[in-house]
Amino acid sequence: MPAVGRTLNLREKLAILADAAKYDASCASSGTIRRHSGDGRGLGSTEGMGICHAYTPDGRCISLLKILLTNFCILDCAYCINRRSSSVRRARFTVDEVVRLTLGFYRRNYIEGLFLSSGIIRSPDYTMEQLIQVARTLREVHHFRGYIHLKTIPDAAPELVAQAGRWADRLSINVELPTAEGLARLAPEKDGQRIERAMADLDGRIRESREARRRFRNAPTFAPAGQSTQMIVGADAADDRTILARADALYRQHGLRRVYYSAYSPIPDAHPSLPPGAPPLVREHRLYQADWMLRFYGFARSELEAIMPDGLLPLDVDPKTAWAPAHRQLFPVDVNRAPRELLLRVPGIGPKVAGRILAVRRHRTLRWADLARLVASPRAVRPWVATPDWRPTALLDRESLRALVVKPRQGDLFAPPAA
Ligand code: SF4
Repeated sequence: MPAVGRTLNLREKLAILADAAKYDASCASSGTIRRHSGDGRGLGSTEGMGICHAYTPDGRCISLLKILLTNFCILDCAYCINRRSSSVRRARFTVDEVVRLTLGFYRRNYIEGLFLSSGIIRSPDYTMEQLIQVARTLREVHHFRGYIHLKTIPDAAPELVAQAGRWADRLSINVELPTAEGLARLAPEKDGQRIERAMADLDGRIRESREARRRFRNAPTFAPAGQSTQMIVGADAADDRTILARADALYRQHGLRRVYYSAYSPIPDAHPSLPPGAPPLVREHRLYQADWMLRFYGFARSELEAIMPDGLLPLDVDPKTAWAPAHRQLFPVDVNRAPRELLLRVPGIGPKVAGRILAVRRHRTLRWADLARLVASPRAVRPWVATPDWRPTALLDRESLRALVVKPRQGDLFAPPAA
């Protein structure tokens, strides 16, 4: 383990350990808040270090302090900047420092919670104990009511994982790579089966706790926001078909709330078996879109596989728009009569918009202008829907429909209907 020269102050540790945490994709979107008091007004400064955004189970977007307890690690996963053999600058917070930082940021209204992960120091159990101590101190000593997401060490003792779930809202265990072969090659010290067992154990505890609370209102909670995981995309040769199959299996088998896809980002002194460049960021985005189609739009995995004959999702168009031209017999969808399942098949219509359409049409017939006000992109929806004043039949008959949708031209396709 490389030694730290002089003692780092809290601000320097924060810079290192917030930066080290950015590789964890457990934030649904990662924006950065930049506030400072250099002009003499206000109190304190974050300079954007370590603040990310995540979505709670009830859909609220909240700001989290996202840091590692330490970026020292006894393991040597090839894709990780914090691996044992990396020359990266190291730092380590004490439990008390993380507690103070969290409370300080919380009181200044910078954050609503904490996302805490860590490299492994000494042993999985020791590391897990440190993470738990942070959460327990926040909850028991300071009565912290904010959101806590703890990264769980799969090799830690089950009783420690049980304690973590008592204090944290969400727990996560990273599967890291989509296939067992990839994990064995790039992170041979990790045990894929043990990771799966740890996820299954978490799922069992989460279900038990939910069941207990259904029967007894005061039964203790266990990770009420469930568990999530992360897969690195583009560090090995796994294609999108393989990645989505693994994600689908994880959702089904372990009741995951989220699978996060994290595009591999090249690291200094990278292992020779790693690709020299990052995959296109849009690939990560397409995987999220396909993931949502499986979970919320009623698509079967086989339907997605049909749009990736080479195993990869198209990058030039979102997966639903890629799927639609091959099923033009379903379109145009009459937005005033179609059931919710069919509305969800329309490119540009998601669960929220489908719900709004159903609510509005209980009272009146939707015309094109009504629909255009409900959707984020009228242009995206227009080739696939029918209203009393709009029917794109001629467009649907075009063999070149996909090309038109992918590279829309201004003109007939997207012009508003005549009044
Ligand atoms: S255990 Fe985690 S922090 Fe350590 S090298 Fe592997 S991925 Fe990095």
